[in-house]
Amino acid sequence: MAFDFDLFVIGAGSGGVRAARFSASFGARVAVAEDRYLGGTCVNVGCIPKKLFLYAADYQEDIEHAKGFGWDVQRAGFDWSTLRENKDREISRLNTVYRNLLVNSGVQLIEGHARLVGSNEVEVDGKRYSAKHILIATGGWPKVPDIPGKEHIITSNEAFHLEKLPSRMVVVGGGYIAVEFASIFHALGVKTTQMYRKELFLRGFDLAVREHLREEMCKKVVDLQFDTDIARIEPNPDGSFTLHLTDGREMETDCVFYATGREAMLDNLGLENTGVSLDDRGFIEVNDEHETHDASILAIGDVIGRIQLTPVALAEGMAVARRLFKPDEYHGPVDYTQVPTAVFSLPNIGTIGMTEEHARKEGHRVKIFESRFRALKLTLTDSQERTLMKLIVDADSDKVLGCHMVGPSAGEIIQGLAVAIRAGATKRVFDETMGIHPTAAEEFVTMRTPVA
Ligand code: FAD
Ligand code: NDP
Repeated sequence: MAFDFDLFVIGAGSGGVRAARFSASFGARVAVAEDRYLGGTCVNVGCIPKKLFLYAADYQEDIEHAKGFGWDVQRAGFDWSTLRENKDREISRLNTVYRNLLVNSGVQLIEGHARLVGSNEVEVDGKRYSAKHILIATGGWPKVPDIPGKEHIITSNEAFHLEKLPSRMVVVGGGYIAVEFASIFHALGVKTTQMYRKELFLRGFDLAVREHLREEMCKKVVDLQFDTDIARIEPNPDGSFTLHLTDGREMETDCVFYATGREAMLDNLGLENTGVSLDDRGFIEVNDEHETHDASILAIGDVIGRIQLTPVALAEGMAVARRLFKPDEYHGPVDYTQVPTAVFSLPNIGTIGMTEEHARKEGHRVKIFESRFRALKLTLTDSQERTLMKLIVDADSDKVLGCHMVGPSAGEIIQGLAVAIRAGATKRVFDETMGIHPTAAEEFVTMRTPVA
């Protein structure tokens, strides 16, 4: 059967664009459908605008610290609309970059909502297209619990477009988005509470990292409320809200921001017309090669709910493109181990490899190296912020199993170390590596005495 396309991609986000562009560059006839924004979550309501907001938040501290270095800083204050509008302009520029990337690589861009009508057929705005392979890369969407008053909440989607900054905000959740936005809004001058249902946020991260971040956020006077949750939200006539908490307390706020995870974006996708099935968490089920239960349909990125990060979606898109259209360059399934990651809280977290808890659970005999220090840059300031660096080393093989950091530029530093960890570096290799002096990062190669 002759198909209109070799590959039809649904969703022009991180994963979809990568798969579409590279498949086209390998000679495939490719179309991509997008119904909301080119570049997907990361570019429009995720990584990029979030990082721009984080830079704005960083300036607040930098301006404060500059005084200790002799700067007489007159602070006229912070203007939210300037940040929001400049951010919007940059995102529009990126949307155009994405459009050009697709079009220039020979991909046919179809702007509209795509719905599967069969294993090899997609409908967009009443027009049907056939394809040998269909790739679902529709991403995710914020998920909020069904509580009374939930119509009053905002999610990360809305946080990027707030008309004005509220005076008070409650951020609910203990994952990436909650800690990042609690840090950002607090630094921008919003009186911020972060509320998490269990005893300590960032479940799954190294315990020392989680405790260190809690201490540092407390020093910055972010109001951290753990072991509690919102049972009901009640609007007040003045526009504020009364929160009725599960522990019986009440709290007043002006904005309730939920960051309680994301679910697969499957709205009106037509999965019922195909053999695609979902896993028990509601994400599209795929095998190692991203094939769904329907032989001609693949899925990648947040919609499969593995690791919801842009570089992972990119790797998955690349793997699909290579396997289908450039098999010589296909190096096998995506390796989901040792994925480095950063949480852009204030201070940042950077991490690669195993946590201490995970390493012990896996049966490793471990040596733990830890350093906690006040960064040189802060010594002339009033800031008491401390940096944490931690290495988990296998006592038998000397291999470094994990590197963790909480401190300025943690993501930047851990990205470099991730290469070493992936290459199987031992602690001896770390010890033999010269430091770059004076930097914070040199601590990673000068820790000599295990703490445990
Ligand atoms: P997406 O980028 O979500 O793209 C899916 C696209 O499909 C969307 O454009 C959508 O409009 C389109 N679509 C959906 N359904 C249809 C349809 N039926 N027809 C046509 N088009 C459709 N990751 C990081 O690595 N670092 C970070 O710092 C980071 N920060 C984040 C901050 C926030 C607030 C959020 C929400 C996420 C963040 N992420 C971050 C995660 C990252 O954004 C995602 O992992 C990544 O965007 C997933 O890419 P994707 O291709 O799977 O989906
Ligand atoms: P996460 O899955 O990271 O965290 C969700 C949080 O919400 C958890 O603390 C969870 O608690 C809590 N939660 C879940 N359900 C409820 C509920 N019903 N009531 C109260 N609390 C609840 O999701 P996020 O929304 O923070 O982010 C989604 C994903 O996006 C991340 O996992 C990450 O992959 C990606 N991302 C990456 C970033 C980065 O790379 N810097 C930045 C932002 C997002 P519990 O722990 O108890 O389950």
